[in-house]
Amino acid sequence: MGEVLEVPAIWIQAAGCTGCSISILNADYPNIKNLLIDEVLPKKHINLRFHPNIMAGQGEAILEVLKETSTEKKGKYLLIIEGAVPTKDNGIYGVIGEREGKPITMLEWIRELSASAMAVAALGSCATFGGIPKARPNPTGCKSVGEILEEYGIKTPYVNIPGCPPHPDWFVGTLASILLMGLPREEDLDELRRPKLFFSQTIHENCPRRAYYDERKFAKKFGEPGCLYELGCRGPVTYSDCPVRMWNGRVNWCVGSGATCIGCCSEGFLDEISPIYVKLEEAEFPKEV
Ligand code: SF4
Ligand code: SF4
Repeated sequence: MGEVLEVPAIWIQAAGCTGCSISILNADYPNIKNLLIDEVLPKKHINLRFHPNIMAGQGEAILEVLKETSTEKKGKYLLIIEGAVPTKDNGIYGVIGEREGKPITMLEWIRELSASAMAVAALGSCATFGGIPKARPNPTGCKSVGEILEEYGIKTPYVNIPGCPPHPDWFVGTLASILLMGLPREEDLDELRRPKLFFSQTIHENCPRRAYYDERKFAKKFGEPGCLYELGCRGPVTYSDCPVRMWNGRVNWCVGSGATCIGCCSEGFLDEISPIYVKLEEAEFPKEV
């Protein structure tokens, strides 16, 4: 038996609802046990050292794991960040533990851990674009992970995996591609640093209701057949593969269940895409749609 490569990973939660974690725990192929316990790829194993919801450790001992990973595994670990980063008043509105009796802010942890990571994955729309915590009036001064890296001159490569929540496949697929082929190349990411593998087409391009749209047959209320455009569907301006990948074990997805796409993977989620049940102007559609 050859040696198994252990890839250390740290998962930090900042300002969010924990929904991204819950979604990833629903991964099916591979499932979460395969991901965390088994060799996720031949001879490769993710060693998840810190995750607030599923780790057994608590208190100071577990904070030591964070410090130890950032020093002893410098440049060798993956940092996964869920949630936006509170920055107002030096970030005091989000803390993880204490150092010498003083709270350590999420902002401090994220700066420290990002700077010494091999790569950062911003997971979910709060981490990638600010999401709901950054929505007006944004009382805690939340920013996206990318904004923090840029502001503090941190050059660690990063990838944005949006979604409210993100699909488990988007996370697992990105992780697997890093383990197999190394860090994503710039040409594999779009201008918002999302993997093109999952985010290169709009919902509208692959929607099963698209024929209704082309025929101008629009539903006037929820539950009717027809395209949901007049009910506020954001599918024409939202890039993700939900219509072909589907959710919850490939059972269904938002538009398939009669709801509109609310644009949860969009950079403008939530402020710019709101009010979400008001019809978009067709002039806002990207040219290729
Ligand atoms: S507007 Fe929405 S429901 Fe209509 S075709 Fe596009 S994505 Fe589908
Ligand atoms: S269909 Fe739209 S709202 Fe639903 S998960 Fe996909 S991107 Fe988000």
